[in-house]
Amino acid sequence: MEAQEGTGETLEKYSPIDGALTGTFKEASAGQVKETISRASAAFVALRKVPAPRRGEFVRRIGEALRTHKEALAGIVTLEAGKIHQEALGEVQEMIDICEFAVGLSRQLHGLTIASERPQHRLMEQWHPIGPVGVISAFNFPVAVWSWNAMLALVCGNPVIWKPSEKAPLCALACHALAMEARKGMDDIPEDVSSVLLGGRSTGEALVDDPRVPLISATGSIPMGRTVAQRVAARLGRSLLELGGNNGVIVMPSADLDMVLRGAVFAAAGTTGQRCTSLRRFIVHKDIQETCVKRLSKAFANLPVGDPRDPEILVGPLIDEGALANMQTTLEAARASGATVIGGDPITEKVPSGGVYVRPAIVTGLSPDHELVQKETFAPILYVLPFHNLEEAITIHNGVPQGLSSAIFTDRLIESERFLSSEGSDCGIANVNIGTSGAEIGGAFGGEKETGGGRESGSDAWKNYMRRQTVTINYSPELPLAQGIKFEI
Ligand code: NAD
Repeated sequence: MEAQEGTGETLEKYSPIDGALTGTFKEASAGQVKETISRASAAFVALRKVPAPRRGEFVRRIGEALRTHKEALAGIVTLEAGKIHQEALGEVQEMIDICEFAVGLSRQLHGLTIASERPQHRLMEQWHPIGPVGVISAFNFPVAVWSWNAMLALVCGNPVIWKPSEKAPLCALACHALAMEARKGMDDIPEDVSSVLLGGRSTGEALVDDPRVPLISATGSIPMGRTVAQRVAARLGRSLLELGGNNGVIVMPSADLDMVLRGAVFAAAGTTGQRCTSLRRFIVHKDIQETCVKRLSKAFANLPVGDPRDPEILVGPLIDEGALANMQTTLEAARASGATVIGGDPITEKVPSGGVYVRPAIVTGLSPDHELVQKETFAPILYVLPFHNLEEAITIHNGVPQGLSSAIFTDRLIESERFLSSEGSDCGIANVNIGTSGAEIGGAFGGEKETGGGRESGSDAWKNYMRRQTVTINYSPELPLAQGIKFEI
């Protein structure tokens, strides 16, 4: 299928399900990136004058289009990212949820009134649109990440230029088509309010380097974020980074082990371990370690792995051969370090040929500071790390460079409160009696340390997409200076 009129290199996309060619695409050339940014800049001049609730109406219509085409879009997510149908539907539902959130927000982009030290003065702050927003997204949430950013950016008055993952071009073109359908009949919303630049790293870099894009929101690996952050900083732009995680759960002796099992298996093996919030470290009290490992091993061994279009399947394919090679190299290195690896083998029986399927793995016997445990391998590998008391558990938990999602399972209030306190989890997300993955749209999403510090979607994340202006108005006949300064002329 020829899907886009680019003028750059040809990009071929194969489905992770069976390796079938799903389309050939032309990457955007450097000239096209510049042209797209020019058009988005012109669109900004018009969009910033459109009242925010009217921009909200545009987003409401996008939400409606998503509801209408939910099944079809989920089908494309499954085809390109290999997600099981339930998870693909869940991803589109997140898009619908953020549309609804953003519509409400479009009547709530409020500032503050602040007490002035000067008589008959008003001090306040207000929020204005910032300009075209560049969104760079990863393959594993090929549609939702765009919507978390785009729906907020749009109600805030900013056109969005999307550089999707080169592994999910069809998803991007489908979302863009839905946005354009939603725009029909809304002539006050400029056509270039949404654009897509297909391509890989170099296309992303051309977007990142352009000073006409005041905000770059980048989701992906830590090495990508490091490069993007430095390039955006070099031109003193703003970046919003949503990078890799290395998420842990602490399991206390009082925990309900049935709940632990459900939470841990979904978080570790769901999406084939390819979520930024996937559970990677199972930090368990030594007294229940053996029982937990036995139950987890049994659950992992019985997980149905295969074609993600089959409703009985819970674990679909890895994205590509490169992901399999990473996983196998990691497991071999773990064995070489004396660890025990349970599962983790490639599966070739009863799965579509041409895809890459694996049994999720459990690894025991590595120390918490082992280099393998310290990094994110984007595959279903769960390291089991025993502890003696909560203090040690929290030290282990926080002892990695990443800081995205975290969880504790316990029935004891003092343990959960300690985990949530300033001495507890150092992550952007901290859950009690829930796994690490599956956040709701209403809360701000993101993480600390090498995860990049950005926050997207709910709460006051919208402020990232606006510029703050502090305003002082003098309605007195005098001109008193702040700090009581006398400057008589
Ligand atoms: P990736 O870093 O390989 O690619 C992500 C995106 O960045 C792609 O669109 C890619 O083309 C682009 N890119 C790569 N180098 C670039 C550069 N120098 N300049 C500009 N753009 C560049 O990541 P991936 O393999 O697609 O996704 C998996 C990673 O994403 C994991 O580390 C995962 O944890 C992370 N992730 C994080 C979140 C989050 O919200 N924190 C969400 C999803 C995925």
